[in-house]
Amino acid sequence: MSNLITKSAPLVVIMIFGLVSVGAQTNPLWAERKVKNYLPHMTVPEVQDFLKYSDMVIIPIGALEQHGAHLPIGTDIINGIERCKLIAQERDVLVSPIMMVGQSPYHMGFAGTISLSAHLILQVHMEAVESLIAHGFNRFIIMNAHGGNRAISTLLVDQINQTTAGVAVSFSQAIQPYLQPVSAPQSDVLDRHAGTGETSNSLYLMPGLVQLEMAESAKLTLPSHLEKMLPEVIKEEPTAKLLFLAEGLKAKETGKSTSSAEMSSTGVWGERSPKESSAARGKASTDAMVAAAIQFIDRWNELVDKKGE
Ligand SMILES: [Zn+2]
Repeated sequence: MSNLITKSAPLVVIMIFGLVSVGAQTNPLWAERKVKNYLPHMTVPEVQDFLKYSDMVIIPIGALEQHGAHLPIGTDIINGIERCKLIAQERDVLVSPIMMVGQSPYHMGFAGTISLSAHLILQVHMEAVESLIAHGFNRFIIMNAHGGNRAISTLLVDQINQTTAGVAVSFSQAIQPYLQPVSAPQSDVLDRHAGTGETSNSLYLMPGLVQLEMAESAKLTLPSHLEKMLPEVIKEEPTAKLLFLAEGLKAKETGKSTSSAEMSSTGVWGERSPKESSAARGKASTDAMVAAAIQFIDRWNELVDKKGE
């Protein structure tokens, strides 16, 4: 008996070693699965096949910037990409993220933020769109997923329309007529950047990256005239909101004293606790957005007589 064990021991060692080495043959960190219509995952034949059915592309534009202690630096671009992927499972629209970084100079007071200039972001996207046009894509939906890119996205849409063969629309404008209002809990305090809306969306779209236990209520120190406007802003009075956002969240170098590090103790721009967020609220707003996007895409296909899915 003991002789048998001794004789078979090297064999057992070889078998165990074999199993371990098989397990080590692929990246232990790899957790992604192939997602339909997501350009970075597609092969050349798959792109060629896609072009037989659709010439429509959706481009999320996000940011790498601070989102307090509970959300990751990549919140905007990751959530943007995930939303686009969900839409692309319902209709044939190519999801083509071009870059992760956006315009975020007003978050530079918090470690990890990267900010690029508006012109550079515009130029990179224009060149990417020209590449896609060269392959036969013609219709572009620009999905801005970060407030600081709003004007850049608007200009990008216009530049595509003014200077290329492609036709572009802004995602938020496109879905607006189809968007069913989602009842969100009213807040009697400011609740914006990295607040309960964005945290709820993140809990639904990228649950593994939210650390809700790290969320703290922010202490805000706004310039006194903005502080005075706050009750009107919270009530969504249009002029107060317009002026508040024109001045609020701007780079420290402007001297407005409204960069996130000057106004917020945590980087969250709001006094409502992000702990009040929920994945259910994020799902409701995402579902409404996806449904509106589908209706817009169907209508666009109908109006230009293109075969959608
Ligand atoms: Zn954000």
